[in-house]
Amino acid sequence: MERTLVLLKPDAVQRDLVGDIISRLERKGLKLVGIKMMQLPADLLDVHYRHLVGRSFYPEIRSFMQRTPVIACCWQGADAVNTIRLLCGVTKAREAAPGTIRGELAMSVQANLIHCSDSLETAQAEVERFFKPDELFEYEDILETFIYSSGEQG
Ligand code: UDP
Ligand code: MG
Repeated sequence: MERTLVLLKPDAVQRDLVGDIISRLERKGLKLVGIKMMQLPADLLDVHYRHLVGRSFYPEIRSFMQRTPVIACCWQGADAVNTIRLLCGVTKAREAAPGTIRGELAMSVQANLIHCSDSLETAQAEVERFFKPDELFEYEDILETFIYSSGEQG
């Protein structure tokens, strides 16, 4: 099973959408294996968004991501990285598909509610960057056999 990082951004916190977004991921069948509230330090953001550092709009993104604490979550599931990217929708929220989190709940490119890792390699690095080993949990999901076939569990 894959693990992936989700951040619920300051607009999700401020707009009282934390419960709604977490509920969507829970109802999909994904398993929550870590969760905490964090005020993101600038140096962590500079690493997390290093592909954007140097762009003219990056200072505004960094300041946006520091406006309130965020909720960091680690979710586990079969193909969890891609599954959550699909549920999230494209970056520009007003063009995100209906049914997606961004498509249903946001209008902006910057204020698009949620971060999710974009590849398995990135997910592994991001989960390690945001969570200490003892903040991540392994436990039995008693519904697993109703969520997956035997070949999909693992
Ligand atoms: N972002 C922005 N303007 C841009 C590109 C990105 O404000 O032109 C912000 C937006 O919040 C986005 C984040 O920077 O979610 C990270 O950008 P990325 O391209 O990695 O998009 P994502 O993976 O979040 O869809
Ligand atoms: Mg990204």
